[in-house]
Amino acid sequence: MATAVADLSEDAIMAVLDKVMDPEIPVVSITDLGIVRAVTTDPPRVMITPTYTGCPATVAIEDAIREALDANGFRGVFVERQLFPPWTTEWISERGRERLRAYGIDPPHSNTTAQCPRCGSTDTVEISRFGSTPCKAQWQCNACHEPFDRFKCH
Ligand SMILES: [Zn+2]
Repeated sequence: MATAVADLSEDAIMAVLDKVMDPEIPVVSITDLGIVRAVTTDPPRVMITPTYTGCPATVAIEDAIREALDANGFRGVFVERQLFPPWTTEWISERGRERLRAYGIDPPHSNTTAQCPRCGSTDTVEISRFGSTPCKAQWQCNACHEPFDRFKCH
């Protein structure tokens, strides 16, 4: 039996958020992406900065956070949006980058050429500015001929 109200602690809330996966890239959590900016218990709230303004995933992410908090007894914890400073790909954690690579997405980096997440080659070419979602571009590897998504840098 789950208790109605969980003990309020920043660690407990973070543990819940750590399991909320990005709706677009289900292998990375919202904490991996750096979307969660702060967790406080007084007042009880979670501050989030959405990845991309206008990205349809933003609403889905907020819904997923609300659902996870409610399901874990944190009904009284509010989810607040903090738009400034704007989210940057630099906030993606090292674990998040590894997870993206394992999933076949070239994590954000400052190189102009994408690196193939499958074979590691930098002999790659951009096929389309828009990949499976507006937040990614589609690239192809000339070495192993695999198409892959690349996170667009901001
Ligand atoms: Zn390759």
